[in-house]
Amino acid sequence: LRFQCTALLSLVALGYCPLAFAGTEQAARPDEDSRKAKVAVITGGHGFKEKPFLEMFDSIDPISYDRLDQKDDSEFLEDISDWSYDVIVFYAMTQKIPEQRRQNLLKLLDRGVGVVALHHTAAAFQDWQQFGDIIGVKFFTQDTVVDGQQHKKCTYLHDADMKISVANTEHPVTKGLEAFTVHDETYKGCLFDRDAEVLLTTDHPASDPTVCCVKTYRNARVCYIELGHGPGIFADASYRRLVAQAIAWTAARPDANNEGGK
Ligand SMILES: [Zn+2]
Repeated sequence: LRFQCTALLSLVALGYCPLAFAGTEQAARPDEDSRKAKVAVITGGHGFKEKPFLEMFDSIDPISYDRLDQKDDSEFLEDISDWSYDVIVFYAMTQKIPEQRRQNLLKLLDRGVGVVALHHTAAAFQDWQQFGDIIGVKFFTQDTVVDGQQHKKCTYLHDADMKISVANTEHPVTKGLEAFTVHDETYKGCLFDRDAEVLLTTDHPASDPTVCCVKTYRNARVCYIELGHGPGIFADASYRRLVAQAIAWTAARPDANNEGGK
């Protein structure tokens, strides 16, 4: 595994020294940290503009995150004995996921580890259809049969100006968001989990209507966000708020009584 803690590096770059505060802030710091959602940001299998993407996570408070770039498609799931993350953010289109890693992901979902699946993650692990069940969407990179039904290869359009409407303004993931416009990439022809709750939609003709939906899988909360080709969208205030609220919502268990939603 290659761990890269950008947040920590940023603090070091700013001259922050944890020891310098040891005397004065010792009592407050552990509580502060315990409220932070710990996030594993999984990347790989698709090119993207790293700097603006990671700056988005740097801007989200309060989280701490490690960016885990996958060189063997899914090695972060090889050994979960030291697992400490509350949420997995997938921004990956890797394909290989051997049986043990599949089982480990399912074990994490049983424990209540949340999942936020961004953009091209919809096309990850094409040979493991259960992954699409987990994240609530399947993008087909080729004609594919699911449950005896033939699905055509999906399509996409870059540099689309998409009007995004909020279907549910009360859900914690979309609360406070108003209709917004993004310049990003569309996907069309995806298969969505019919039981997932749709939170954001678009009427762009080259896109599926659903651009964000939430569900639960086993003991985990899951949020899929179609948007996120970047790099412009990573700096968009509405998108940042959406991703931040998706992380906060998925960090809690489905039976958490402090919030609404499924
Ligand atoms: Zn893309």
